[in-house]
Amino acid sequence: MSNTGTQYAAKDNFNQQTYNLFMQAPVGFGLLKGANHIIELANPIFLELSGRDQSIIGKPMADVFPELAIQGYLHILNKVLAEKKPIFLNENPVVFLKNGVRETYYINTILTPYLEGEQAAGILSVLTDVTQQVLARKKVEESKEHLQLAIETTSLGTWEFLPLENKLTWSDECKALYDLPPGIAVDYNLFLEHIYPEDKSLAQGAIANAMKPGGSGKYDVEYRILRYSDKAVVWIRAQGKVFFNEKREPLRFIGTVLNISDAKAKEEKIRISEERLRLAVEAGQLGTYELDYIAGTIIFSPRLTDMLGLAASAKYTHKELVNALHPDDISIRDAAHEKARRTGTLFYEARIIWPDASVHWIRMNGTVMLNERKEPAKVYGTVFDITEQKENERILQQSHENFKLIADAMPHMVWQLSAARDVVYVNKQWTDWSGLNLDDVKEFGWVNVIHPDDADRIKNDWKSAFEQQAIFNAESRYRQKDGSYYWFAIRTVPVLNDKGVLQSWIGTATYIHERKIAEQHKDEFISIASHELKTPVTTIKAYGQIAENMLQKKGDTETLTIIRKMGTQVNRLTDLITELLDITKIQKGRLIYDEAFFDFNALVKDVIDDMQQTSGTHVIQMQLEATAQIFGARDKISQVINNLLTNAIKYSPRANRVMVRSRLQNEGVQLSVQDFGIGISSQDMAHVFQQFYRASGADQTTYPGMGIGLYICAAIIKEEGGRIWVESEVNQGSTFHIWLPSDHRTITM
Ligand code: ADP
Repeated sequence: MSNTGTQYAAKDNFNQQTYNLFMQAPVGFGLLKGANHIIELANPIFLELSGRDQSIIGKPMADVFPELAIQGYLHILNKVLAEKKPIFLNENPVVFLKNGVRETYYINTILTPYLEGEQAAGILSVLTDVTQQVLARKKVEESKEHLQLAIETTSLGTWEFLPLENKLTWSDECKALYDLPPGIAVDYNLFLEHIYPEDKSLAQGAIANAMKPGGSGKYDVEYRILRYSDKAVVWIRAQGKVFFNEKREPLRFIGTVLNISDAKAKEEKIRISEERLRLAVEAGQLGTYELDYIAGTIIFSPRLTDMLGLAASAKYTHKELVNALHPDDISIRDAAHEKARRTGTLFYEARIIWPDASVHWIRMNGTVMLNERKEPAKVYGTVFDITEQKENERILQQSHENFKLIADAMPHMVWQLSAARDVVYVNKQWTDWSGLNLDDVKEFGWVNVIHPDDADRIKNDWKSAFEQQAIFNAESRYRQKDGSYYWFAIRTVPVLNDKGVLQSWIGTATYIHERKIAEQHKDEFISIASHELKTPVTTIKAYGQIAENMLQKKGDTETLTIIRKMGTQVNRLTDLITELLDITKIQKGRLIYDEAFFDFNALVKDVIDDMQQTSGTHVIQMQLEATAQIFGARDKISQVINNLLTNAIKYSPRANRVMVRSRLQNEGVQLSVQDFGIGISSQDMAHVFQQFYRASGADQTTYPGMGIGLYICAAIIKEEGGRIWVESEVNQGSTFHIWLPSDHRTITM
């Protein structure tokens, strides 16, 4: 192939003359071959017009001109091949993609099949770009159209006023604008009379301004007139100019007048439709409507018929729509409209009965527009389906009522507090008991019902429960309306929503007076009994020791063993009595008297040594790190360690060791007693520090006890400003921890 010719075509396929003719032609030439319309040849003009280069040669049309394929040109090419007939396309718009930009050309195209034998072998296409001509012609057409339109729509009236002679003349167009019947004489008074009253000062001001000596004489104003025949309102635009004489007096005032009502109406329409659009956009669920008070007609969006349960149609009359209302709510609607006419704002909520008899709720909003005479003319508004909201309200109301019903039926006193702890509800039992009503108990009025001795405790504990949004449990005496006090167990729980935000508080008070009194009797009995027991037991212990000494001297080892066994049991008895006495002390509020500094690890060692002597079953291992001087009641803390060790041994019958660790921790010491015994279930763990609580697995024969040891331990540790807690796993063992501050007097907990 020669190097110059490959640029535009597979040149060798053509003789030189034909090739030159193609190349130099002032129109676009393209030769397409075969069913795929392979581009065999494309001349410079073709390439320029289509925005391609010579690289398209040898490639199928569809590949290099995807935009033409979309526009259906491949189909036309196929048709030329199939029918073996040329096709002419005149001023055909063709979009070419040029460097990624779509450009439209108008092209006269001739597509001619060329035959090889009987077969159509390809297409010769000749393209003439006529874009410029077409566009020029279109412009002319357009401007002609515009002119015509302008002529048709403007019926410009002209007028002339001669101020010195007070003579006014109107053209026929002007008279037509005023709808002035033939034969009526025009004068300045007639003109003035037909200015819309409210616009009079505006129009006259503009006229006076134009005629002002020394002024520009220009006049251009828009105002409303009242047509002569029917007093209908017409918006006009008047323009004019005043000519002055040498004396600077207005001599001649001429001008034009144009009916601009349509434009004004359009403006108004746009304003209204914008308003409508805004309302619709504000809530996708809104239906909109436009009610004409005077004509009694209504225009509405399809959403409105949806809400009324009606089939979609714009043909419903206003009356038909109103009929969808629940008969009982028609009066609500009427009253709302009555009010809207006065106030300009429409609002009501009413029920709708759907054709399937189901009841729905709607909320109507609207704005009343006044007409020229300031009368309510139209309402533009929205309709919103509030069925779900109403249903929710109803359910809520129902559940409120149910709550009250249940609360009143209960034997307990029940109340509800707001999230800010104001009393919002008290049940019947509450008011019956106290003789007070809801208003009396608001703003901490309820405190007056609490026994004065309990009030401070209750107030403080409730305050901290409130601050932590925690369940509040307490026991307190409540005053009955006759002035007597009875015991109640109080429980107030925070009510959270699903996001965990506090909504309210529900409280109950359960009558526990008899139980409380029985408990008090029992406590009193324990207190007296343990006191009474203490003296004889101490005496037995003393005699026991004397007997032990005497037997030792005598060398009566057999009796000595018996006496020592008795001594161990007497010690147990003493411990029990101490515990019982401790309980009474806890109830009276004070457990600890003598406090001083002591060495913590030394104490731990002492307790362990004592314990090790009596226990033949377990080895007590020690891991004691650095020690500290602790300020506290040594004997009471010793009692705690003793108790933990006793339990560790008692509740691990199959193990043979107990592990004791101590270390310094947070300006204090931490002691841990670990056993490898039966462990405590997580359920029980929460309760082991409570009075008389015994874990369910611990049966009395295997593990004798009263369930007061840990209760006392916790009370002692609390008084010493420390903490006690347990970690445990069933059948693996338990670890009881205590932490004590070095000096609890310096710590504010
Ligand atoms: P008790 O006299 O019953 O031992 P405590 O107050 O000392 O009373 O203990 C309360 C309950 O806690 C016990 O009844 C027992 O069920 C459980 N408990 C205490 N210590 C242990 C321990 N080391 N291992 C397993 N359970 C324990």
